[in-house]
Parts: sequence; C-alpha cells; structure tokens
Amino acid sequence: MIYLDNAATTRVRPEVIRAMVGAMEEGFGNPSSQHGPGRAARALVDRARRQVSGLLGVAEDRVLFTSCGTEAINWVIEGVRRASPNGHIVTSTIEHHAVLHAVERAVEQGMTATYVSPDATGRIHPEAVREAIGKDTCLVSIMMANNEIGTLEPIEEIARVCRDSGVLLHVDAVQAAGHVPIRAQEWGVDMMSISGHKFGAPKGTGALYVREGVVLPPLIVGGGQEKNQRSGTENVPGIVGMGMAAELAMQELPDEMARIEGLRRRLIAGMSQVKGVTFNGNEVYHLPGVVSMTFRGIESESLLLLLDMQGFAVSSGSACSAGAGEPSHVLASIGLDSISARGTLRISIGRENTMEDIEALLAVLPGMAERLFALSPLVRGNQ
Ligand code: PLP
Repeated sequence: MIYLDNAATTRVRPEVIRAMVGAMEEGFGNPSSQHGPGRAARALVDRARRQVSGLLGVAEDRVLFTSCGTEAINWVIEGVRRASPNGHIVTSTIEHHAVLHAVERAVEQGMTATYVSPDATGRIHPEAVREAIGKDTCLVSIMMANNEIGTLEPIEEIARVCRDSGVLLHVDAVQAAGHVPIRAQEWGVDMMSISGHKFGAPKGTGALYVREGVVLPPLIVGGGQEKNQRSGTENVPGIVGMGMAAELAMQELPDEMARIEGLRRRLIAGMSQVKGVTFNGNEVYHLPGVVSMTFRGIESESLLLLLDMQGFAVSSGSACSAGAGEPSHVLASIGLDSISARGTLRISIGRENTMEDIEALLAVLPGMAERLFALSPLVRGNQ
C-alpha cells in the first residue's frame, strides 16, 4: 500500500514508538507523585514540553498538553465564551469543523460571529480580518494551513492586525506543525492548537500554547494537573511520543520541506498532462505535501476506490467531510460548484513517501481519470 493521505493522519514513527515503550516501561509513575517513579515520569513530561515548545517557537512553560487538536480548539473557544459571553468572534469560512462547530455552539449560547471568506486560492487577507473586527470582538480564530487544499495563511500579518485592535488571536496549526516553520511567540500569536498524529505521534495527543498574560479558564477540572489548567493524570507515553515527534520534525524540517515539495511538483507536472484536471490552492503559500486536484465530471469517490484497489490510499476532499458525504465547505468557499467539489481528490505526501511512490501513482491515475472522463455524461462531448 502506498499511503498518500498524510493530512488525515500519519504513521507513528519508529523512534516515537520506541520512546513511548520506554515511557511505559520506565516512566510508568504518576507525574504528580513525589517518589522516584513519579519524578521520573515528571522529567519525561517536562522534556516533551521543551520539545513541543521548540517546534512552536514559544516559551516552554506556556505549552499545555491536551487529548487532541479538537480539545485544544474547544478549550480556546469555550474558554473565551465563558470570559465574554456576549462577545464577537471573527473566524473564516474554511476552518476545520472543530473550530466551526465550537463557534456555532458559542453563538447558540449568546455570542456573535463573523466569517471571513478567502480568495479563490484559499488565502485569508489580513485586511478582511481587520474589517470584520468590531468593538465587541474578543477573539479571532484563523487556521495556519488548510487541511483540504493546503493553503498557508498570513498568520504574522493577521497577528499584527489583532494586536493593533487589542483582540486575541487563536491559530489552529494542526496541519502546519511539523511541516512548516512556526514562530508563534515572535509572530505575536496568543494561542495555538496542535495535534500529534499529524506529524508522526499517536492519535489522542495534542497541545495548546497560551501566551503569557492570557487567562483562559480551565474546562477540565479535577486534580489540578498542567498547572491547574487541564486536570487529568497526564498521558505520559502519548506526551513523550509527541515530544519525540516534535524534536525529529524540527531537526528534519528544512530538508524534508524541500524534498516533499519536489515530490509535489512532480505530481502536479504529471497530472497537468491530463486534460480536464485543475488544481486548487495557492501556488506560493502552501504546505509542501498537499495537492488538491479537481476532475470535473468524475466522482472522486470512484477514483479513490479504484486507487484503493490498486494499493494507493488517498482522500476525496478531507477525510471528515468525505465521511459525512456532504460537499466540502472549503471547496465551496473557494468558488467550486458541487460538480467540481465532488470531483476533487486530495493527495497528501508525507515523510515516508519517495519519488517512486509518485511515479507509481502517475503510472495509473492519468489512465483511470481518462477512462472515467470518457464515461462521464457531465463531460462536454460525451452526451
Ligand atoms: N484542525 C485541523 C485543520 C485538522 O486538520 C484537524 C484534523 O484533521 C483538526 C483540527 C482536529 O485535530 P484532532 O484530530 O487532533 O482532533
């Protein structure tokens, strides 16, 4: 199987598995215990916090571990709602459902929200964010990288707009962390959510950066772990795994970005030869490994299943919206009609992929697409 769905999730890295097994065998103590095994577990958690803060470019005592990206995002939005129950949130139409549904719930409970639209390449313009901010705005939540089309957002400029307006900025960096450089503190980001399973750590691991001076009420109360901010005995093996994955990603980042970008370019060059294929996203500002392409008139689910039978794992749109069977809100936001959205495939290249994988895909996908195009009643000339 050639796995090309790394934006949905990544395989856990062998180094991460080894670190986690070590943490389960040697670091089994409760990090809150005073004795030797407890102190050993605490030291593992502290080390992982340093590693994750390095990946985000933030002070290490400002990283809090959560159970996933979704928890970190919900914490921010619900935390802000509790502090400002009638406040206004600015977000975008292309956020992940973790943000959109949390904002919807906040609105049901009395907040108001404005949704900024991106341009046709998926870029959210800082000036559009500035215009959406009003006197009651208490939070801006914008993603760093889009999970369906890979577009990178101008976070540093958006952070400047938020600072000028005195509004908090939360960044969903779930797709960006481990794949592109992040300097959250230097950029002036107030809060940032990440998820371990997108960069080689196991599922069920996440973290939230909260800038010094920002007060976010805890959602999960109990034993007072994570400096009283997020109770629950720490998932020491998961935290250790995320720390190890963060350190490895940071060391490899410049080389891997260039290598994966090379694979992406080859894929786009190869698929550009197929008549009727178009590409979504931004040619300059994008994640190195995400390619979103539209086969207008074909059901991308058919391509996905044919590819699966040939041993390739890819996605139609994003895994979540594909699973729900609903047209993607991201593709609609960048102007695709439902026929184009239904014909969109996402191929996401990761650190395990090689040029041979891309060549193998290029040996089968163009022929498959041409056969389906020839059968499609939606393609001009076939009627
Ligand atoms: N935000 C984005 C942009 C994502 O792509 C995802 C997962 O696909 C999430 C949030 C949710 O992260 P998690 O799976 O850790 O809950």
